[in-house]
Amino acid sequence: MILQILATAYPHASTRLHYDDLYQLMVAVVLSAQCTDEQVNKVTPALFERYPDINSMAEAELNELQELINGVGLYRSKAKNLKESAIIIRDKYNGQIPDQFEDLLTLPGIGRKTANVIISVGFGKPGLAVDTHVYRVANRTGMANAKTPHHTEMQLKQNIKPKDWNQTHHLLIFHGRQICKARNPLCDICPIEKYCEKNLDSPRQLKNN
Ligand code: SF4
Repeated sequence: MILQILATAYPHASTRLHYDDLYQLMVAVVLSAQCTDEQVNKVTPALFERYPDINSMAEAELNELQELINGVGLYRSKAKNLKESAIIIRDKYNGQIPDQFEDLLTLPGIGRKTANVIISVGFGKPGLAVDTHVYRVANRTGMANAKTPHHTEMQLKQNIKPKDWNQTHHLLIFHGRQICKARNPLCDICPIEKYCEKNLDSPRQLKNN
């Protein structure tokens, strides 16, 4: 019921990152860790113009790459990870971003959240990425009862049909941004209030997202 109500409330829930292809999606999602999508969207146009594909990213000059993305948090390590991932994709996967979850996890800077987004948004396969909003909303509502993003992901995947995983990810993010905010959730106007367990003591925010 919760997901049905949220689907009505947020009919256009989808990623706000700007990208044109799988490579750009991967880069944007890596950059979005601990950073807003809006901020990522500010740096990616110049970044994609300078490094339009895996090969150019693999050849990138690290200082220049860092300079292009220094508007996002953790830009030094993100630059290093993007370059190293591009080298691996170029040399091990013939320049094609792998479509297997376990292969994606071997790339530097790509954790479960990023891999799930690439699998679901990029390849259209079932994936359920747990970012800070999904983690908070799922555990507050009672859709999950977990202490880590990984366990939250496992519990949600157990209880929700794979065909709905991707949409669930977007719906919980939209709800977390607009109503179930980390501080001061707007329970009074929340459309799922009567179905929510209101576990407001569960963690508000993930440190590493
Ligand atoms: S009722 Fe409150 S805690 Fe529950 S989902 Fe809505 S805003 Fe979040």
